[in-house]
Amino acid sequence: MKRRLVLLGPPASGKGTQGQLIREKFKLAAPSPGAILRDELKAKSELGVAAGKFANEGRLVPDELIVQLVRRWLDTHNGSFIFDGFPRTIGQADAFEEVLEKRQTPLDTVLSLEADQETIERRISRRVVCSICESSFSIGFHVESVDSPCPRCGGDLQRRRDDAPEILKARLEEYRQKTEPLVAYYDERGLLNRIDANRSPGVIFADIVHILSTNDSD
Ligand code: AMP
Repeated sequence: MKRRLVLLGPPASGKGTQGQLIREKFKLAAPSPGAILRDELKAKSELGVAAGKFANEGRLVPDELIVQLVRRWLDTHNGSFIFDGFPRTIGQADAFEEVLEKRQTPLDTVLSLEADQETIERRISRRVVCSICESSFSIGFHVESVDSPCPRCGGDLQRRRDDAPEILKARLEEYRQKTEPLVAYYDERGLLNRIDANRSPGVIFADIVHILSTNDSD
């Protein structure tokens, strides 16, 4: 069973949803730097304030800050994980590889969720997030409207601030320029699994279960 994984993919390709399903089925921690940063920002911590000005504009936070955050996470957790939204640059991937090599715990596999522009735009236009538990839902599928209560904890739902059209545009540009090259990076290392993420969550997850169960490394 593979226990050290990375989820790659553009905004709204389903990284959060699949990360959650993988976490539940395979009992893996699913750290997401984006979610950690949102918590730090809410708490107005030094890290949150430093990172917030980038995140609020849809730009990537500098590598040093993110790598620091990931190192801190690895120091306080056991060796298995599925990272959602990390690494997002070649610099982060290099730093991650070095940290994992030192710990003698290399990555087992990378899941690349590949979604069309049309899918991304449709999902973002329907996406709402709980202001308390941070779970993500789709209007018309999980909930009726943004005024519905969170199906998981009853909290208030809201749009993600960085899903606003002009910020989304910047996020997609950052993705194409800085993150997409990681697909080739991990392909060269023989770690990449491409997954068609235009399909429904259950169908995508069935593919992931198959990949994680058949490519056993230990
Ligand atoms: P996400 O929730 O994964 O979409 O991330 C939200 C925002 O957090 C991104 O738009 C970035 O500003 C920041 N962020 C999250 N992960 C990273 C990362 N690995 N590198 C740089 N910035 C990140």
